[in-house]
Amino acid sequence: MKQRLVYGPVPSRRLGRSLGVDLVPLKVCSYDCIYCQLGRTKQRTIERKPYIPAKEILVQVREKLEEGVDADYITLAGSGEPTLNTEIGPLIHEIKELTQIPVAVLTNGSLLGSRQVRESLIEADAVLPSLDAHDEEGFQTINRPHPEIRLEAVLEGLSKFRQEYPGQIWLEVFILDGINATPTDATHFKHWIEKVNPQKVHVNTAVRPPAETYARRVPLQEMTTFCNIIGEQAEVIAPFKGTERHERGADIEEDFLNILARRPCTLDDISSALNVHRNEILKHIEPLVKNGSIAIVSDGSVAHYQLKKPR
Ligand code: SF4
Repeated sequence: MKQRLVYGPVPSRRLGRSLGVDLVPLKVCSYDCIYCQLGRTKQRTIERKPYIPAKEILVQVREKLEEGVDADYITLAGSGEPTLNTEIGPLIHEIKELTQIPVAVLTNGSLLGSRQVRESLIEADAVLPSLDAHDEEGFQTINRPHPEIRLEAVLEGLSKFRQEYPGQIWLEVFILDGINATPTDATHFKHWIEKVNPQKVHVNTAVRPPAETYARRVPLQEMTTFCNIIGEQAEVIAPFKGTERHERGADIEEDFLNILARRPCTLDDISSALNVHRNEILKHIEPLVKNGSIAIVSDGSVAHYQLKKPR
């Protein structure tokens, strides 16, 4: 069976309806973040190579486009750190030849110190890097990076990228209760964010089940205070709300299983992504919960559906 590399569109709190594209196998990453919704990193690496050849990915992107997919962004992200794939530059170029849908790249930013990596992202419409720590200790605690990566180099890479890249940079700061979310933390972040100078700062927290249970979400009020300190380009990422509903004909079960293969989702997430009523999703999902294929996990406030075995 061919590996599915393109999935969704899935609901994204930052990008609307986002057609996800995997560039590396689950989960190849330079970090092992304590909040990662994909679980712990299986292969923590900084080795760049064509983990999945651009040619293979493009076949599936083309198929989706031919089906008439309706997406706000084609998002290169998926199951790990996409800039580890050396073919990301040609892939962005080819996708832009195929469609007017803007291309976004979700990256942890750890490799932006490399000129090749920065150049490979030049044609993207938006790059969404992360910055979750303002000092080395926090970096090691939260992101658990590959031993050769230092925060100072990541910050330098981000600043260089800002100077060279003409598109949108939307920086994500992921804050966690008791770890990096105080007003003092916000003041330290502000210092670095001013140097990177992104168009937007998205302040996020653990709304999906994290890799480590001690990575706890921050209450909304504290997130708002945090944003106010960072400045007017900062916003709390609001929970996703689908704006339009469209007809769709594909197999519902297959589609939501593909979404859950990437990350746990609430019923509303799945409903918005597939433009299918919640009750219709429930009809399909309940037997799978009963037979043990899907688990319901809760972080105390919201229930998420999660695949028990990877697909
Ligand atoms: S959150 Fe992103 S950067 Fe962190 S471990 Fe998961 S995939 Fe890697």
